[in-house]
Amino acid sequence: MPPILLAMTTPPLEDYFLARRAVPLVLLTLFWCWETWRPFFGQREGRLRHAGRNLVIAVFNTILLGLVFGSVTMLVAEWTEQNQFGLLNRLGFAAPFRFVLALVLLDGWMYVWHRANHVLPVLWRFHRMHHSDRHMDVTTATRFHLGEHIGSSVLRLGLIPLLGFEVWELVVFDTLVVAMTQFHHADISLGRWDRWLRLVIVTPHMHKVHHSDRREETDSNYSIVLSLWDRLARSFRMREDLGSIVFGLKEFTDPSQQTLAGMLKTPFMDARAETQEHPPDDPTYDEIRLAVSEGRRIRDV
Ligand SMILES: [Zn+2]
Ligand SMILES: [Zn+2]
Repeated sequence: MPPILLAMTTPPLEDYFLARRAVPLVLLTLFWCWETWRPFFGQREGRLRHAGRNLVIAVFNTILLGLVFGSVTMLVAEWTEQNQFGLLNRLGFAAPFRFVLALVLLDGWMYVWHRANHVLPVLWRFHRMHHSDRHMDVTTATRFHLGEHIGSSVLRLGLIPLLGFEVWELVVFDTLVVAMTQFHHADISLGRWDRWLRLVIVTPHMHKVHHSDRREETDSNYSIVLSLWDRLARSFRMREDLGSIVFGLKEFTDPSQQTLAGMLKTPFMDARAETQEHPPDDPTYDEIRLAVSEGRRIRDV
């Protein structure tokens, strides 16, 4: 049974699912308005086209994953709960403490999964679709290849009985992840507050560094909710000149790679061949970098 969270009564499971569906839409609208009102970079042209492509990917993924994994995940979680299987059920902690521990364990797992996506070449092939976005805004939060989602969903089916998660804990965590992912991808600035907030959670400035086209920065700041994981694993990284960050991957600079078909083909492209076309010291590429940097509107670093 869920512990008492903020209210004195326990909401039914349907309410958690309702929140899981409503929160992404509400936050997407709010962050889109914030990015329009006061962007950190601002996208000079093609903003709607860019958003449209990322959101089509989101709708496509949501429908397919719901059909394939929705009921299977529910069945596995219900079986785990009925049989009191897994670590959390064995520990037998009081409900509020168990709830916090479940969220921390899930967040720690997300750190490991994200880092594995950068380290293992086969996983990177899928994850690089997220990193190939040349403009980062709230819609980038939905730009993940279906193959990456399938990988994490399959592994989670094994993780549920192992650690003993309940359905509602998974739904609350998934809602939190969507909210946090939209927050730290949004093209916004919290000004001086970012510095304080990132002591605890992942902030927009922290995740900007993760989307830099410099490989040593791409391979940093893997955390999703708590920034603690990056600090513990020594993968935390910041830079002062955030306004000069160039988003994307050097091996994916061709506009055809930003179309829907191009994005879906990302895992199957020979990135090394592309890299040779645009090596880091290629003068043409440097010109593009400079133009992108100079064209940006920068506020409140
Ligand atoms: Zn990443
Ligand atoms: Zn990201």
